[in-house]
Amino acid sequence: VFVDISIFYRIIGLMNDGTAPPKSIQTLKQAFSGEIILPGDDAYETVRSSFMEEGHPALVAMAETQDDVALAIQYACEHSLILSIRSGGHSNAGLSTNEGGMVIDLSKMNSVEVLDREKQTVRLGAGAKWGIVAKTLKDFGLALTSGDTVSVGIGGLTLGAGIGWMVRKYGLAIDNLLAVELVTADGEKLRADKNRNSDLFWAVRGGGGNFGVVTSFEFQAHQVGKVYAGVITYKPDNLDKLLRGWRDYMREAPDELTTMLALMPSFGPEMPSSFMVMCCWDTDDKEAAEAALKPLRNLDGEVISDDIKEKDYCDVLEEAHKPEGMKIIVNNTFVPELSDALIDTIAECFKRTPFVMQIRSLGGAMARVPADATAFAHRDSEAFIVLPTFLPPTATDGETDAALETWRKVAAYGKGAYINFFTHNTDEDVAAAYPEATLKRLALIKKQYDPQNVFNQNYNIKPAG
Ligand SMILES: Cc1cc2nc3c(=O)[nH]c(=O)nc-3n(C[C@H](O)[C@H](O)[C@H](O)COP(=O)(O)OP(=O)(O)OC[C@H]3O[C@@H](n4cnc5c(N)ncnc54)[C@H](O)[C@@H]3O)c2cc1C
Repeated sequence: VFVDISIFYRIIGLMNDGTAPPKSIQTLKQAFSGEIILPGDDAYETVRSSFMEEGHPALVAMAETQDDVALAIQYACEHSLILSIRSGGHSNAGLSTNEGGMVIDLSKMNSVEVLDREKQTVRLGAGAKWGIVAKTLKDFGLALTSGDTVSVGIGGLTLGAGIGWMVRKYGLAIDNLLAVELVTADGEKLRADKNRNSDLFWAVRGGGGNFGVVTSFEFQAHQVGKVYAGVITYKPDNLDKLLRGWRDYMREAPDELTTMLALMPSFGPEMPSSFMVMCCWDTDDKEAAEAALKPLRNLDGEVISDDIKEKDYCDVLEEAHKPEGMKIIVNNTFVPELSDALIDTIAECFKRTPFVMQIRSLGGAMARVPADATAFAHRDSEAFIVLPTFLPPTATDGETDAALETWRKVAAYGKGAYINFFTHNTDEDVAAAYPEATLKRLALIKKQYDPQNVFNQNYNIKPAG
């Protein structure tokens, strides 16, 4: 009977000083309430990989309870297995699968509960996905600011920060987080909020999956009815003027309006290159929406299409598919200012060789949170730029380097990065994501909760000392 599994572990831990043999897979299976999936099992093919990366783990532990999570961590430690944690499986860097290790898959822990309707608080299982969350909360007239994609998981997005369609009105996903429940490396179950384990609560808001396996998240939701959302597509001629017009307007736009630009190259005669202004106005006040959107419809360029309409917030989230048959390198940076020089650089590069780029307008509620209030520090940024570079799988180092030239030019204007939008995972990425003081504080908290660095398949914070 697992009354308090952490006591059990401490005893096992003591016995392990020389005596207790590691658990066999059979023993794990018997104690585990979820399913343990092994190579050769029917389900293995469907669980071995993540959205971006193929993997061949030695076992996938489909956890259903916190005790399952604790058992799986213990098993991975005893057998010195690489340990990946998976909520929605959409890690851009493919961190939620591995070769020969263990994956703890939380997709069965996917509950969506309204805790208090009046206070608008909700609890989400870490394995729930944002599309289901938005649909479920719609029936209560509620919504959470999250990401833009239906199948992205609560776990990874929230632990990184969460930049979504209401970021200017309600801040990042972490700015609405009230508490988490997690299992630490030694199997202890903890709750962290602003009063309890408050250092840990600070760290999980932006520090990624470094401190334990988070099994549930409690959020402050918001009353959201219909929204006005869609895309105004322009011909990208005079790109510098379009960019300046968008930037100037977003500097004074109401917080209810969040927008994201997508620059697109031509994909054949049916899909010419374009400048897309993706918008979400999050109240159902039609008149106010029309007034707020008007300047975006009147930028200095030729509109090709405009499909903005009233819809439910859950229908703003879309599905995404990984482009097959190519190598993708995703880079990102926050820019303190979308300066004229940066805009000219983007416009010149695009004129030479059109590329895909996403620029998200920030500010509003996100910027009103002090930079040291959470482990995510890039609060004062005017915009967030994501530049995916697409290459043939056979691209040589030289070709790859040449293709990254645009990125290098843009990156020169950046300050800081977001762990959730990299396809790579280097020490430089970690250093870019966290200012020095943040990183030091994270390392101290890591030392306290995961001194052996059991959770290292992430943007890894090394334990202090
Ligand atoms: C198509 C697409 C669209 C996206 N759109 C957005 C967007 O609009 N806004 C935005 O902010 N981000 C966005 N992202 C980035 C996204 O936030 C990250 O990829 C995030 O890691 C995905 O979360 P997940 O739970 O699906 O990932 P997973 O692959 O399951 O997890 C990623 C990593 O997070 C950690 N982790 C996950 N769950 C837990 C847990 N419960 N406990 C401890 N550690 C955990 C682990 O280190 C894991 O390797 C997008 C990504 C994709 C692929």
